[in-house]
Amino acid sequence: MLTFEKYVRPGSAAQALELLRENRQATVIGGMMWLRLADRTSPLGIDLAGCGLDKVEETEDAFRIGAMVTLGQLENHERFKAATCGIFTEAVRDIVGTQFRNLATVGGSLYARMGFSDIVTALLALDTEVELEGAGTMPIIPFVERGARNDILTHVVVRKHRYQAAFESVRNAATDFSALNAAAACWQGSWHVTVGARPKKATLVTGGERIPLRRDFSPAELDAVCELAESLDFGDDLRGTAAWRRAVAPALVRRAVERAAKKPRAEKEA
Ligand SMILES: Cc1cc2nc3c(=O)[nH]c(=O)nc-3n(C[C@H](O)[C@H](O)[C@H](O)COP(=O)(O)OP(=O)(O)OC[C@H]3O[C@@H](n4cnc5c(N)ncnc54)[C@H](O)[C@@H]3O)c2cc1C
Repeated sequence: MLTFEKYVRPGSAAQALELLRENRQATVIGGMMWLRLADRTSPLGIDLAGCGLDKVEETEDAFRIGAMVTLGQLENHERFKAATCGIFTEAVRDIVGTQFRNLATVGGSLYARMGFSDIVTALLALDTEVELEGAGTMPIIPFVERGARNDILTHVVVRKHRYQAAFESVRNAATDFSALNAAAACWQGSWHVTVGARPKKATLVTGGERIPLRRDFSPAELDAVCELAESLDFGDDLRGTAAWRRAVAPALVRRAVERAAKKPRAEKEA
């Protein structure tokens, strides 16, 4: 059981960060769905529930999602869904169940950067930035690669584009963790393809600093990207071997790209 010697509910992210900086052994509490599995005593629990981070704000150019927005809130946000071709809804729909997703948060899911995460794989394919109370704003790619220690994730910003996007995963059983997952999103003329649950955390196959796949790719160009997926660094765990993941990744990437390419492009103004 996870036990807190002291529990606080600050009224702002700035106060939460101050408390965290004063006590580096403190535990930041999001939806508590992952944390509650721990068996330890923490000197201080900093609950973000009072920080006003539970809203999705829409501007002309972006969706600014508070860290305490639940997976359920976001998967059912009609405008976000329309603007991102439903990729987030596809990514979370097999995570445990409705009640669970109404408690687990977007911030807790991203900050933890878990290898099996479907959420990281999906958000990494979109034009996403994270806002941290201490470190400021950074693109999602360095955040996923390196993380941010002892900080508070306050918002996830997804920029609007005329996306085409889709998410795919393989699960050994319904609602189990993904044994492998992939996402594809086309924006600003090129495809951003990610593969996660390798079982290491998600990484880009195309897009970012990787070789781009242009919007109107040829069959040979898509074949080349599928080959790239095969060359990623895979590992073994109880859900699959590295060899199995290497064999399946190209097919999953192809499926994600082809399914996304068939979807109508999102209107920038969703
Ligand atoms: C049984 C089970 C099955 C799951 N299955 C899946 C699955 O199939 N696919 C998938 O993608 N995910 C899955 N998850 C993960 C889940 O979706 C959430 O990502 C997870 O519960 C974390 O979200 P939370 O809000 O509960 O975070 P918490 O448990 O509250 O926190 C998680 C970690 O993040 C830190 N943290 C939380 N919020 C912040 C913040 N704003 N700033 C800084 N640090 C913060 C905490 O200190 C902690 O270290 C599963 C989880 C469980 C328990």
